[in-house]
Amino acid sequence: MPFNYIRLIPTPEEIKNEMPLTDQMKKDKATRDKELRAVFERKSSKFVLVVGPCSAHDENAVIEYNVRLARLQERVKDKILLVPRIYTNKPRTTGAGYKGMVHQPDPTGKPNIVEGLKAIRHMHIRSLGECGLPAADEMLYPNNFPYLEDILSYVAVGARSVENQSHRLTASGMDVPAGMKNPTSGDFEVMLNSIQAAQIPQDFIYNGWEVSTPGNPLAHAILRGAFNQHGQNIPNYHFEALERVSELYKKRKLLNPAVLIDTNHANSAKRYKQQSRIALDVMKSRQQSDSIKNMVKGLMIESFLVEGNQKEDGTVYGQSITDPCLGWSDTETLVLRIGEFV
Ligand code: PEP
Ligand code: MN
Repeated sequence: MPFNYIRLIPTPEEIKNEMPLTDQMKKDKATRDKELRAVFERKSSKFVLVVGPCSAHDENAVIEYNVRLARLQERVKDKILLVPRIYTNKPRTTGAGYKGMVHQPDPTGKPNIVEGLKAIRHMHIRSLGECGLPAADEMLYPNNFPYLEDILSYVAVGARSVENQSHRLTASGMDVPAGMKNPTSGDFEVMLNSIQAAQIPQDFIYNGWEVSTPGNPLAHAILRGAFNQHGQNIPNYHFEALERVSELYKKRKLLNPAVLIDTNHANSAKRYKQQSRIALDVMKSRQQSDSIKNMVKGLMIESFLVEGNQKEDGTVYGQSITDPCLGWSDTETLVLRIGEFV
């Protein structure tokens, strides 16, 4: 038989009962959800920064990073909402390589998804408990969303998943902002189709159930740059691209038109240091146009304790084992500088 059935996966209820949220965690999430909702509904002019490593492969380093973010949050609290990126599910371009803590709790060990599901919940809970900042994760596998659904304040659908019906329909049942990335081809219409699908009520099969969802009015766009047919990087953070998305949004009559700009990936061509320049370029574009200012609600920045990246078996504490990241001190400088523009 080509499928080898290895282990039975515990249900979300079983893992949640093992690792429940405390009342304080629930309170922190409810407060953050309200603050984020206000930004997307244009009731608050705060700016959202989803910031953290490409992949959260080491719980201790992630916690140390998020504790620093929490301290920084205090310094910019009048202007910025910091949302830690705790990415535990990694899509891979060719299917090979580290697929995140959910697959490999030990990045150099064998896949163990039962332990992975426990490890990612453990890390998210520890982070919320120790830093008080509810986090973002990518929904790579829609069926796994219930394992973290009570703890996340922001969810992204990646560039390789955004055309998939099951991702779109699952996003329609979330009550937190769901960022739909432009596909790797860069097609804005595909991205907007995905937002449209996530914003309306849906009926579908989900984890053995027939379910219905109300639609998610906070589904919005993330611009991450693209590749053309020659494999070249086409950034989409610049003024003209933002103007175009704003025009397309107007034609569609979607709810709460909003965009986050991903400063890494095909926007930086993974020249991670460029993220600071790109972020400030976006802040300047916001100053030049009210429609861009109203639409661009934040940035997504890849950052960790130590800049750059290393191989999957690398031993540098706090350095990414997937995409290269800004280091802590550049990140701190950048966040403070962004605050001056808000
Ligand atoms: C990421 O955010 O690390 C990521 C994989 O993004 P994308 O889906 O845009 O490639
Ligand atoms: Mn990445």
